[in-house]
Amino acid sequence: MTSAALVARVSSDQGGRSPSVSEQIEAGRKSAIQLGWDVTGIFEDEDLSASRFAVADRPAWRKLQKLLPDRTFDAVILWSPSRGSRELEDWAAFLSRCRAYSVLIYVITHKRVYDLSVSRDWKVLADDGVTSAYESEMKSDDVRRGIEGAKAAGKPLASVPFGYVKVRDPGNGKLTGLEIDPEKSAKVRHLFAALDDGESVTDAAKQTGISRQQALHLARNPAFIAQRKLDDGSYVQCQWEAIITQDQYRRVNEILAEHANAGIKAGRSRSLLAYLAYCGKCRAPMTTETRKDIAGYRCQRGCVFYTPALQADQLAEQAVLYWLKQKGNIERYGAADGAEAELARDEVTRLSVRLDEARGSYASGRLPLAALEGIERDLGPALKEARELARKLTIPPVLQRFKRRSRAASAIWNEMSLVAKRDLLRACTVAIRFWPVSYEGRFEIITWRPAPKGEEE
Ligand SMILES: [Zn+2]
Repeated sequence: MTSAALVARVSSDQGGRSPSVSEQIEAGRKSAIQLGWDVTGIFEDEDLSASRFAVADRPAWRKLQKLLPDRTFDAVILWSPSRGSRELEDWAAFLSRCRAYSVLIYVITHKRVYDLSVSRDWKVLADDGVTSAYESEMKSDDVRRGIEGAKAAGKPLASVPFGYVKVRDPGNGKLTGLEIDPEKSAKVRHLFAALDDGESVTDAAKQTGISRQQALHLARNPAFIAQRKLDDGSYVQCQWEAIITQDQYRRVNEILAEHANAGIKAGRSRSLLAYLAYCGKCRAPMTTETRKDIAGYRCQRGCVFYTPALQADQLAEQAVLYWLKQKGNIERYGAADGAEAELARDEVTRLSVRLDEARGSYASGRLPLAALEGIERDLGPALKEARELARKLTIPPVLQRFKRRSRAASAIWNEMSLVAKRDLLRACTVAIRFWPVSYEGRFEIITWRPAPKGEEE
């Protein structure tokens, strides 16, 4: 009696009319009875796509291939050639093996036995393999084009940003848009408000009830201002409602970028002035060093050792509170945070987009390196200048809350996180310097940042 292997597979890419694995097995058994064959092995791969674009391997199909040379089976029963393999090379190898080991193939939908030693039979199944592979390629192209198109058009994709839920067409179940999830979006708003207020990422995450990692991830996601960053670095407007304002998103990301530039992890800094203050003699940054259990500030090259660090911190605190109290200091910042600042920020965006575009062109081989270097030489300094101007004109987020003057500055200061305090010092000073004793009595000198519009204090 002819012993037959029954191959059954269901793939999610088959649409609604696809027979299930059990239906395929049942049909296969019926065929075997009609043919007078004996089914001695069943090879089923549930819900795995057979195309080369599928991630999942098909263990049962692989196992069958290994058994063919052993002549364990005289025949293989399949629902249709696409149930075998969509991968052309794989299918061709299967046909060759069946021919080499004289294994017959019965295709249920064709109601036919193929004997591959007959050239015509071989050609029919090989052609079917080409058709299946072609369909699979086409589908993959369509899917890829579809996703790229949806991305560029700002349409929602399968993965939904935190704080949103999918809206589906009740008729066909297709994804039509995103809606704000009240509970989760409240978390997003809370997180941004806390970071905007100068809380450390760790504290902001804790208050929001999420991990620090997730907080960093969310804070940098432009989906909350209804934007998407494309692979080429450009941004597109998306077709859903923003959860937070663009201004707040920008402020929060400036804070995070400043921390990154300062070489400290947001929310991880322990001393007020480390890497913020400089050595007056050699200009190296001041770091902290503990001697005899007392923390002090030390020039990285060793010119100054100031101890205790706490005393320097208190002096800086007194100085900044005095500065905040002086009428006009904050107000002058605030006055400029309008149209002028907006223009300056637009200029930064314009220049960075041009630079990113040039880098993208170079990366994709459309621009020679020399040309990119030329563009970087031109745009680099202009961008730096524009950034500095935008920074001058924009009221630093950390100063914002002192602007209201509803409470004593010292009360606000005391509630601030260390990171926020450092931000405040960075925002309103040009330099904080420590000098060796031999200079001016080892005192730190704070140079205040001039207020915008050239009105010096
Ligand atoms: Zn020094």
